[in-house]
Order: sequence, then structure tokens, then C-alpha cells
Amino acid sequence: MDGNKLAELIFPNIRGTIAQLEERFPKRELPEGAYVTRFAPSPTGYMHIGGLYAAMISSRLARQTNGVFYLRIEDTDKKRELEGGVQEIIQSLAGYGVEFDEGPFAGGEKAYGPYKQSDRKEIYQICVKELMRAGHAYPCFCTADSLDKIRREQEEKKDDIGYYGAYACCRNLSYEQIEEKVNAGIPYVIRLKAPQAEGKHVVYTDPIRGSIEMPENKMDIVLLKSDGIPTYHFAHVVDDYFMRTNLVVRGDEWMASYPVHKQMFDLCGFQAPDYLHISPIMKMDGTAKRKLSKRKDPEAAVSYYLEQGFPADSVKEYLLTVANSDYEEWHIANPEKSGEDFQLSISKMPVSGALFDMAKLLNVSREMIASFSISECEKQILAWAGIYEPDLYEFAMSHSKQFQETIGLWKMSGKKVRKDVAKWNELMQMFDYLYQPQDKFEQKVTYELDDKYTKEQLKEAVCAYKKDLFLETGEWFEQMKLLGEPMGYCPNMKEYKKHPEDYKGSISDLCSIIRVAVTGHKNSPDLYTIMKVLGEEVVRKRLDQFLSWL
Ligand code: GLU
Repeated sequence: MDGNKLAELIFPNIRGTIAQLEERFPKRELPEGAYVTRFAPSPTGYMHIGGLYAAMISSRLARQTNGVFYLRIEDTDKKRELEGGVQEIIQSLAGYGVEFDEGPFAGGEKAYGPYKQSDRKEIYQICVKELMRAGHAYPCFCTADSLDKIRREQEEKKDDIGYYGAYACCRNLSYEQIEEKVNAGIPYVIRLKAPQAEGKHVVYTDPIRGSIEMPENKMDIVLLKSDGIPTYHFAHVVDDYFMRTNLVVRGDEWMASYPVHKQMFDLCGFQAPDYLHISPIMKMDGTAKRKLSKRKDPEAAVSYYLEQGFPADSVKEYLLTVANSDYEEWHIANPEKSGEDFQLSISKMPVSGALFDMAKLLNVSREMIASFSISECEKQILAWAGIYEPDLYEFAMSHSKQFQETIGLWKMSGKKVRKDVAKWNELMQMFDYLYQPQDKFEQKVTYELDDKYTKEQLKEAVCAYKKDLFLETGEWFEQMKLLGEPMGYCPNMKEYKKHPEDYKGSISDLCSIIRVAVTGHKNSPDLYTIMKVLGEEVVRKRLDQFLSWL
């Protein structure tokens, strides 16, 4: 069939040529060895931690070679698209230090755009028209029903499933047959006319896994859907070629598609990029490894780490250790350097599923938080609380001095920096008594005390303490001893341990009762300091409330 004639029938209004596209998107002038990489998400509003991992790897490889890293929005599936999805992607990645040189955002629209696939329709059509001219593409009018029939037949015959060879019934339609259907308004997709290469193989060279031999593609895959929008496969070929990507970093679920992608690059006359197929992030489920799943694992979503208040640096650092297991060693050997100075090595990346170990991330994060100054903690807690913990945010804004003191109180226990917090929501669970409004202050305080003390005893202790809180004297503990002794609380621990039966309890018991009444926790940093932070009025309210719950 005359390919030119068919191409004119199908694309009468497409005048551009591949040669013009070559001129419009010239090869990038970059230093030798520079990588042009990209992050190519679909704007579904959900960012998987694996997406962040891939974006981080791509951006680092471009940065460390003085290359280019760009964002391309793969919005060819309009049904799944979410309003504001692009902004969200850009913002959440920026929080982790992943920034784009080019992309569909103010200041990012450079020479290789548009960067949204939905704005590139004509570019795809120009390329398909040329493929059609050369006899490598054709319209297919098969309905969902007829495709289903083909599939059933293949299943019965235990043949490969797909549209190919003798099963591809639209492959050999005559020009007249096609013209008739087009004129009758029958919808069609455009398919690749795959060269029939039974028995041939392609060799894919993977930088991590070495050479892999795969059968050549024989499927007449869809290039353009009936609405003229390309499939992922075809858009990948056209976009990565004309955006001049030279290293495609993507999940290894795409590795099996290499033969069809390579075939399309060749048929279009485009040079194919190099690929780095990265292994997915896995988790241990019992004794088996499985992929982190959007449905089953909350920690699969990047938003989880934001909500929980993991500092971005902890997640970044942890993902680096997943990508290159020697990162930690490097960090210890170069304590003065920042993670940004680390050179990511492609050959050291994990070959099969990279295991995501939450316990390890928590450890990394504890160390990270311990290394932050008080003012860094304050800044980060505020940024987190502003979105996820409004009560705390309000407290911090209206009591900034107390808020700072509190952080200091937690950070240092004696001379040692504490390492008990891995994410800000943990810190805030420990400090809820500082900022929870009175009405939200839970009755849990009474549960904390178990049955160790009788109600009468609690009432007696709190009522006695309420008379004078001793907050102004500077000798709080001494005063507590004096207060406790007549009630039967031994002021001397050694003495108490020798003869516990002679006492109602020890000074430590008395302080415990007051601590739980005021904070709701059995453990807290120095109670006197906390009460000073809370202020007399709040302490009194808490004591009264405690009495009312008894
Ligand atoms: N939009 C594709 C995806 O979400 C991108 C794959 C690629 O990076 O080429 O899986």
C-alpha cells in the first residue's frame, strides 16, 4: 500500500516533519559525560516513595555530571488526573531537595517543552505520520469485543496473547477498506506495524545487571489511542528523544518493554537513550519480600513521612543508603561533608528489590534529629505543626519562649543529647500536656497511675500540693519533702527502701502523683521546669481537673 496516501488520509492536517522537530529541539550542548535525566510521573495526586527514590537518583546523576534534570508530566490518562497534581509533585519533591531545571512550571518552560504530554499532541502525530508513510503504522478498527475474541482464541490455542501476525486483522486492510471505514466515522487507534522477526533477539545492556537477551518485539502495539493521545510506549520514545534525555531512569517493571521501545526508536530513526532500570522498594512481610503497596502500606506514600513529621533530611539520607549501601561508610569517613557531596554510583545500586527497613529509617532519623540545633528543631517542628498539629502551632506562636524552653528541655537530659525522637509527632505525643487545650486534656491521667494509689491518697496529695505550688521558691524539691513527710511520704529514698512498710510512700511517689496530675504522663522532663513553662494558672487548672476526675 502507498504509505503516503494512507498518511494523508489519516493525518490530513499534519504538515510538520521529523526533520523540523530535529531543528526545533536540537541536541543539547553539555559537557562530556553529562546526564540528561527526567522524572516522568502521572499527576494522580499520589506520590509513591519509589517515585521519590527514582526522582532523587535521576536528579543526583544529572547534578553530579553537570547535566539537566527535568519534569515531564505524563497526563495521557485524563481519567486519573487530579487537579493541582503537578504543583503537589513539585512541592513534595522540593521538600526533599529534588529540584528541576525544566518542566511545566513558571520559569521551567525552556526550549524542549511543552513538558506536559497533553500539550504535545501534534509532535506525536508528526512522528506517527512519518512512521505511516514508511509503512510502519496503520489504523486499527477492532472493537473491544473483537479484541476480546482474539484473546480468547489465543488462550485456547495457548498462543502468545496480543495483537500480532495473523491475529492482527487490520494489519493488511487495503487502502479502500480503510478509507471506507474512516469516511463512515468508525473510530480507530493507530498501531505499530511490527517487523515480523520471529526468532530474532535484542540485547539490552543494563548498567547494573549486565547484558540481557530478549526476543524482539512482534506485537503491533497501539501508538495513538482513538482520541489521538499516545500510549506510554510511544510517548516515551518521542519525548525522551526530542527532549534529548540520554539516561532514562525508571522502575524495572519497564525492562520487559525494552524490545518494543528499542524497535520504535529504530523505526523512527532515533538514537535510543541509555537506561537505568531501578529495582522497586520492597518490604519484609513475614519471611517474604514484597513490593511496598499503595493499598496495603501507609508508608508507601510520601505524604506519610510528611504527616508523621520525619525530617526531610532523614528520609533523604535513608534513601541514599538504599541506593548505595556504602553511603553510610562514606558519611562516617567524611563527617564534615554534606550528603549533597556524595557521588552516587550506578554500579553500586541494588540489583533486586531494595529493602525498605523502617527500623533503620527511624534510627537514621533519631541520629539526624539529635544533630539538629534547638533552633533547627524549632523551625522544623513549627513547619510541621503548621500543617498537621494546629493546637501545637498555636501554642508555639502565642508562647514562643515557653515553646523554645520546652525543646531545650527535651533535647538535653543532663549533658547528653537525647536520641529518643525520630519524627516530630513522637515528640509532640510526649509533650501534649504543654499545648493541648484544657478541654482536650484527656482523662487518661487517672489511668496512668494504675491502682498503686488509693483515691483518697491521690486527693490528699493533690489538695495539699495545691495550697502552695512552690514555684517561686527555687527549692521546689526541698519543699516537696517538707510537704510529704507529715502525710507519710519518706523524704529519704535510702531510708524508704529499708523500711517501706513504715510509710505511705516515698517522696518519689508524691512527685509521681503530681506529675501525672499535671502532665498526664508518668515520665517527663524535670517537673518543676515544666510547671514553670505551663505557668501557675494552668497548673492549678490541671490539678482541679484531676481532682474532678477522681
Ligand atoms: N509515567 C510513567 C510511570 O508513571 C513513567 C515511567 C518512566 O519513567 O518512563 O510509570
